[in-house]
Amino acid sequence: MSNDHKVYIVHSSLYVVVLPMPETLYQKIYRKNHPDKEREKCKRWRLNHPDYKQKLRLKVLIHYSGTPPHCQCPKCNEREIKFLTIDHINNNGAEHRKTLNLKSRSSGDIYHWLIKNNFPEGFQVLCYNCNCGKARNNGVCPHINSVKT
Ligand SMILES: [Zn+2]
Ligand SMILES: [Zn+2]
Repeated sequence: MSNDHKVYIVHSSLYVVVLPMPETLYQKIYRKNHPDKEREKCKRWRLNHPDYKQKLRLKVLIHYSGTPPHCQCPKCNEREIKFLTIDHINNNGAEHRKTLNLKSRSSGDIYHWLIKNNFPEGFQVLCYNCNCGKARNNGVCPHINSVKT
């Protein structure tokens, strides 16, 4: 009786430790051989999680601007989440996108990238207004200092 029990424990621990390895390897090979199926799976997953991107966005916005997320321009303080974007503080957005190889992709990928890279410094939350204004005003939001052109 007690011997049976021992054997069972050894088996179950073997099962737990050994199984994940061949499983991930198998998935890797499968994905390589069936790229279409994998893409299909991702598509289906996204359809079943329509708010996934939204949550990703919210997480990043809260990290950089606090709760509730808001435009970090001191004269604006916009809180409508749909107006908020991630801004490169040093105005090197295009350069950064190039290094990320995101130039043709939607800016949604930046949120994914920021999370994956543990929220690097050099980013802030601005609303579209302040973001565009800053780009056209030598890197300073016109709310703060409007440069006459
Ligand atoms: Zn703003
Ligand atoms: Zn502003």
